[in-house]
Amino acid sequence: MSEEKSVEEYRLNADEELRFEVEANASVQMELLEGMAEVFGSELTKGKVYNFDQGSKVAVFTWHGCLIKLQGRTEVAYVAKETPMVMYINTHAALEQMREKAESDNTRGPRVMVVGPTDVGKSTLTRLLCNYAARLGRAPLFVDLDVGQGQVSIPGTIGSVVVERPADVEEGFHLNAPLVFHYGHTAPSTNPQLYKLIVSRMAEVTNLKCEKQRKVSISGVVINTGGWIKGGGYDSLKHAAGSFEVDVIIVLDQERLYNELKRDMPEFVKVILLPKSGGVVERNQHQRSDARDSRIREYFYGVKINGKDSFFPHPMDIPFSSVKLYKIGAPALPDACLPLGMKSQDNKLKLVPIRPGINILHHVFSVSSAASVEDNVIESNTLGHVVISGLDTEKETFNILSPSQNPLPNDILLILDLQFMDIEI
Ligand code: ATP
Repeated sequence: MSEEKSVEEYRLNADEELRFEVEANASVQMELLEGMAEVFGSELTKGKVYNFDQGSKVAVFTWHGCLIKLQGRTEVAYVAKETPMVMYINTHAALEQMREKAESDNTRGPRVMVVGPTDVGKSTLTRLLCNYAARLGRAPLFVDLDVGQGQVSIPGTIGSVVVERPADVEEGFHLNAPLVFHYGHTAPSTNPQLYKLIVSRMAEVTNLKCEKQRKVSISGVVINTGGWIKGGGYDSLKHAAGSFEVDVIIVLDQERLYNELKRDMPEFVKVILLPKSGGVVERNQHQRSDARDSRIREYFYGVKINGKDSFFPHPMDIPFSSVKLYKIGAPALPDACLPLGMKSQDNKLKLVPIRPGINILHHVFSVSSAASVEDNVIESNTLGHVVISGLDTEKETFNILSPSQNPLPNDILLILDLQFMDIEI
C-alpha cells in the first residue's frame, strides 16, 4: 500500500455515475470541478471538497455531465453507464403527483415503504426519495425500521425524522429532533413480538405528527426496512405495511417478494418492482458488524471531518443507585411452569431488572423517557444512549460514556445486545 495520495479526474457524460470505495485506513477527498452532480440525491457544490472516510461506498451521479476530481486511496473507482436512476426519478415524480393531489383534495400524501433482501440499496433509495422531495420544498417523514444498521439513531433501535432539507453529502440526514424507540437487538427475529409492538407505536406517533403538521402529512412518509423477508420477516413487513397504512410498496430486486405482496396486499396498495443498482456493494457479516460499530462511534464522536472527530463525548462516574437497569424480554419458560392463562410469549415484553456486574461492561444502553417503571417503558421513546464503560464494585459506581456532559436525563436504562469499546479507529 503506497502512502502517497493519488489524484484522478473523471469526466462523466449525462446519466453516468462514478462509483468508488474508500480503502481501509484511508480517506478520499472529492471535488466537483465542472457541471452538476449529486450523491444519493444531494446536490454537490462546485469547488467544495468533500471528505469520505474508510469503507465509504459512494456514487456520484450526473443528469447533464460533469468533471470530478478524486484524491486519496480508493479500493475501486469506475464510471458506470447503466444505472436505474431514471426509474428511481420517475418513481419520485409519481410520488410528487400524489402529494399535489393530496394538497388539492385535502387528504394525506403518499406513504411508501421500500422492501427487499439485504444489499439491494433500500437505504440508498429511501435517502434518494427523501432528498428529491426535500429539494422540492417538501418535508417527508423518514422512518427507519432497519434495526440492523439504523440511519436515524444507532443499530438496535428504530427511528424517524422529518427531512426538511437534503441529507448532508458526508454526514447524512440532519437529525433534528428524531424520534427513537428502543429494541435492543440487531435482528427483528430475536424478539418479533417487541419489534411489532414498537413498529405499531411508531406508526401511531407518525399519525399524530401528520395530524399536527399539514406539511408533513402532504409530503408523506418514506419507510426503510431490513433485509429479513422470509417467514417471520415477511410477516413483519405485512404488519408494518398495515400499521403505517402504506399506499405504495417498492420491492427492490426480488420478483418473488413482489408477487407475494401483490397477492397479499389490499387492492389500494400499489406494489412496484424496481431493479437494484449495479453499484450496491454486498457486505459480509464482518463488514456489517464493522458498519454497526462505526455507526455507534459516530453517535458519540460524530463524523470525522479531515480526520478529526466532530463531537466530544463525556466519561463520567455515577453511583449504581442513580440508575435502574433493565432488559426487555425474559427467557421463555415452558407453558407448564407459568401461571394459569399466561403464555410463554408474554415473557418477551417483560421488563427484567439487571444487577450491576461485569456482564454489562461495554454494553450500550438506551435512556428511556418513561417517568417510572410503572409507566409504559417499552412503548416510551428513547432520549439518547450511553455506554457503561467501567464499574467499581467497591465504590458502587459506573463509569459511563455519554454524548453530553449534563446529568442523565432519566434514570431508566435499557440494555442493547451491542457493545462499544471506546478505542480510536
Ligand atoms: P441492508 O439490507 O443491509 O440495510 P440496503 O439494501 O439498505 O442494505 P444500502 O445500505 O442502500 O443497501 O447499500 C449498500 C451499500 O452500497 C452502501 O454502503 C451504499 O452506500 C452503497 N451503494 C448504494 N448504491 C450505490 C451505487 N450506485 N454505487 C456505489 N455504491 C452504492
